[in-house]
Amino acid sequence: MPHTLPPLPYPTNALEPHIDAKTMEIHHGKHHKAYVDNLNKALESAPDLANLSIEELLRQVKAKAPDAVKQAIINNGGGHHNHALFWEVMGPGGGGEPTGAVADAVKAAFGDFAAMKAKVKENGTGQFGSGWTWIVWNPTAGKLEAVKRPNQDSPLMDGLVPVLGIDVWEHAYYLNYQNRRPDYLDAWWNTVNWKAVEQKLAAARAGK
Ligand code: MN
Repeated sequence: MPHTLPPLPYPTNALEPHIDAKTMEIHHGKHHKAYVDNLNKALESAPDLANLSIEELLRQVKAKAPDAVKQAIINNGGGHHNHALFWEVMGPGGGGEPTGAVADAVKAAFGDFAAMKAKVKENGTGQFGSGWTWIVWNPTAGKLEAVKRPNQDSPLMDGLVPVLGIDVWEHAYYLNYQNRRPDYLDAWWNTVNWKAVEQKLAAARAGK
């Protein structure tokens, strides 16, 4: 099997009280696992794509995947990559303001961190139904941008490189927050792992 479920890099209760252990357990162990399993199943019908990295697969899926499994790869490949990133950009002892290269990039793109957070929240609450609110590196523009995407559509499919994302599917927050998606989006920033975001930004700038 080409793709595997990465282990959660911290215990399921590490993000409490902002994200509860039960949500993390189901989200990683059931939802993310299902995306990986269904991606591998879809790739059985697309052997030419089976050895690509998940990033390359998502960059190429629209142009190269057979029609019969294209949507399955978009959904489940996106689901796999989005969630792998999501676990990484959160962590225990997170939060605070960005520093260094991330702070500079945020300032250049949004003016300040508060303005970026407002845009992420606007996109997250404005995404009707399931989806994600993202901060991406736009290689063409050479700057960060805030975008939203429905379902598990990866920004990689549009030539953008995600460096931070918040899952706004109900499975990400419903046990704790029920219908209060805006409250979840506010609380999420207490979990952000800026070191991981900085590494993703550096890799995106280097074209990796
Ligand atoms: Mn999810």
